[in-house]
Amino acid sequence: MSVRFTDTVTPGVDHVYTGCRVLVEERTELQHLVLFEHDLFGQVLLLDGATQVTTADEHVYHEMMAHVPILAHGAVRDVLIVGGGDGGLARRVLEHAAVERLTQVEIDPDVVRFARAHLQPIHQGAFDDPRMDLVIADGLVFARETERRFDLVLVDSTDPVGPAAALIEEPFYRDLQRCLKPGGIVVTQSSVPFFQDEPFKRSLGNLRRVFEAATCYMITVPTYFGGQMALGFSGAAPVDLATLEARYRAAGLQTRYYAPDVHLAAFALPPYVRELLAAA
Ligand code: SAM
Repeated sequence: MSVRFTDTVTPGVDHVYTGCRVLVEERTELQHLVLFEHDLFGQVLLLDGATQVTTADEHVYHEMMAHVPILAHGAVRDVLIVGGGDGGLARRVLEHAAVERLTQVEIDPDVVRFARAHLQPIHQGAFDDPRMDLVIADGLVFARETERRFDLVLVDSTDPVGPAAALIEEPFYRDLQRCLKPGGIVVTQSSVPFFQDEPFKRSLGNLRRVFEAATCYMITVPTYFGGQMALGFSGAAPVDLATLEARYRAAGLQTRYYAPDVHLAAFALPPYVRELLAAA
C-alpha cells in the first residue's frame, strides 16, 4: 500500500513525497523515525517529519561536508562528528586513509541502532571501522567537557530545533574552538538560506563571532528543498586548484559530486547569500 509523507520545509511550503512504501517506522525516546522507499529518491529517512538522508542524493551532502575541509586542511588526523547518526558522513571521513581517529557524538542511540539495521547503503559499515569511536551523548555537553583535540569538527545535526537548537549558538562554537588543534577547521550544517534565512544568519553570525574568517560554501541537495544549502566553514588558508587536485588524487577518492573545481566554486557566494552574511 503506498502512502504520502509531508516534510514541512518552512511555514507555507510543504515537500510532499507520494507513492511511498513504508519500510520501518519507530518512535524513539527522542524522535520519530520513518524509513520509506520512493521511486525517485530510493530509501528516505525522516526524523520528526524532516528529510535527513536519501540513498539517491546523500553523496552530495556527505562528500562536500567531508572532503572540502579534509582536502583544504591537508593533514587531518583526528575528526569529531556531532550528530550524523545515519553514518553517511562517517563513511566519507573514513575513506581518507590518513584519518587516524573519528569520534562521533550522537545524542540518540536509537538512530545509530536503526542505521546499523536499515541504512547499510548509507554507512556501508562505517560504525565498525576500527578508527571509529562512537559516543552516545549530547554534542553540546561533549564539546564543553572533552579534553580531546581535533583537526576537524563536523556538525552534522538536524535543523536547529529541539535537541539541536543549541548547536548554532555562540557558546557551542566557543567550545568547539577550544577543541581544535592549531589550524583546525569547523564545518556546520547551516540551513537553506533562501527559506531558512534566520537560522542561517544566526548560525553564521555566531560562527563569525568565534572564528573571524568564517564563511560558508554552497551545495545543491535535491531533497533539502529550497535551493542551495549552506555549510558553515570556520576559515583556513585558501587552497589553489593544483594543490586540491594533487590531494584528491593522493586520497584515491571515488566521488559523484565532489571535485576540486567544484570545491573552489562552492565558495563563490551568490549576492543574496553575501547580503545575508553581511547582516548576520
Ligand atoms: N544531514 C542531515 C541534515 O542535514 O539535516 C542530518 C542527519 S543526522 C540523522 C542528524 C543527527 O543529529 C540525528 O541523528 C540526531 O539525533 C542528531 N542530533 C541532534 N541534536 C544533537 C545533539 N545535541 N547532539 C548530538 N547529536 C544530535
